[in-house]
Amino acid sequence: MERFDAIVIGAGAAGMFCAALAGQAGCRVLLLDNGKKPGRKILMSGGGRCNFTNLYVEPAAYLSQNPHFCKSALARYTQWDFIDLVGKHGIDWHEKTLGQLFCDDSAQQIVDMLVAECEKGHVTQRLRSEVLSVTRDDQGYTLQLNGDSVQAAKLVIASGGLSMPGLGASPFGYKIAEQFGLKVLPTRAGLVPFTLHKPLLEQMQTLSGVSVPSVITAEDGTVFRENLLFTHRGLSGPAVLQISSYWQPGEFVSINLLPECDLASFLDEQREAHPNQSLKNTLAMQLPKRLVECLQQLEQIPDVTLRQLNSREQESLVELLTHWRVQPNGTEGYRTAEVTLGGVDTHELSSRTMEARNVPGLYFIGEVMDVTGWLGGYNFQWAWSSAWACAQALAE
Ligand code: FAD
Repeated sequence: MERFDAIVIGAGAAGMFCAALAGQAGCRVLLLDNGKKPGRKILMSGGGRCNFTNLYVEPAAYLSQNPHFCKSALARYTQWDFIDLVGKHGIDWHEKTLGQLFCDDSAQQIVDMLVAECEKGHVTQRLRSEVLSVTRDDQGYTLQLNGDSVQAAKLVIASGGLSMPGLGASPFGYKIAEQFGLKVLPTRAGLVPFTLHKPLLEQMQTLSGVSVPSVITAEDGTVFRENLLFTHRGLSGPAVLQISSYWQPGEFVSINLLPECDLASFLDEQREAHPNQSLKNTLAMQLPKRLVECLQQLEQIPDVTLRQLNSREQESLVELLTHWRVQPNGTEGYRTAEVTLGGVDTHELSSRTMEARNVPGLYFIGEVMDVTGWLGGYNFQWAWSSAWACAQALAE
């Protein structure tokens, strides 16, 4: 049976980075994945350009039942460390918005960089590898694979969450956690579009593809100021993806469709200057025409001039456009979600090493655990930071 110092399961962002660093520190590392190629999610990420980190990474941008857990790793391996590595590999990048950093060229560059780092660490890589069973004894961990068995003193689970089963996502990591007695918190899809109830969806059918700046608020008070996109299934765009991580079934979200305009003052000014202007044309100065037409068809906008608009009508219009209360029917689920909320309970892990407190030699890194970032490069930074912390421990 072939023996390694460490076996890493999952050749995604966290697993590849951890394997590379541990290998470079002198460990004999085996990296396993059930897929045909490494880093499949990285290739799909950021519209093919990989939003690999964010300039403004901070613990407050992460959801977890144990909010302090992520602090240590994020502080020890920062966005600047990863930007430095990207620079060393000659990868050019740019900031898009809100500190989000993307490759100028392609996400393939990040995968190539990780592959090169693994080669530098003499990591043995086995793709298309099914792990049939994991057992532990005083020799360490023995993995039964399809074909043979492998052994190592240390085992790192980097198999990610449940999002996008088409890209190899599986509950493998949760099952291993449970096998070794660790608590796994309930999971749900995060950074995911909302679906809407049929009547509302039908009313808004003509809006598919319309995008507007918005401020969106969850019932717990969390607020994001980003674009909202109407789709043929419901609502999407960065604002909705962000708030979906803070939304629970049955709850409402409140949406301000005119965050850059004081609508009441705007209508008063326009009434003063152009009393005979139609309300519809006035609103079309601030909102996409298709949205105004849809609202008029739904009789939410009275067919009147500004002079005819009475104060009660104006108040309800302002309320509708700045506090639009929507109760999503649900989300599009793991099929399109960028991340999985919940997972391995971090109270069971060391925040310095990512090792299970009660199971020596067993580590969890990346998305498999209950640490989920905002949209915008935060999730990859968690993969890099947690992988780095674990790799230091493997090399000790
Ligand atoms: P993963 O990258 O999911 O890797 C897990 C690996 O484990 C996979 O290769 C999988 O094949 C393997 N695996 C699973 N089960 C088994 C098993 N039983 N046996 C062997 N191997 C197994 N985040 C950002 O920060 N920026 C972005 O731009 C961004 N864009 C995204 C776009 C999309 C479409 C998606 C789905 C996600 C995006 N994310 C983004 C989130 C980010 O991709 C994840 O948070 C990150 O990949 C998690 O890294 P990980 O290594 O923990 O897991």
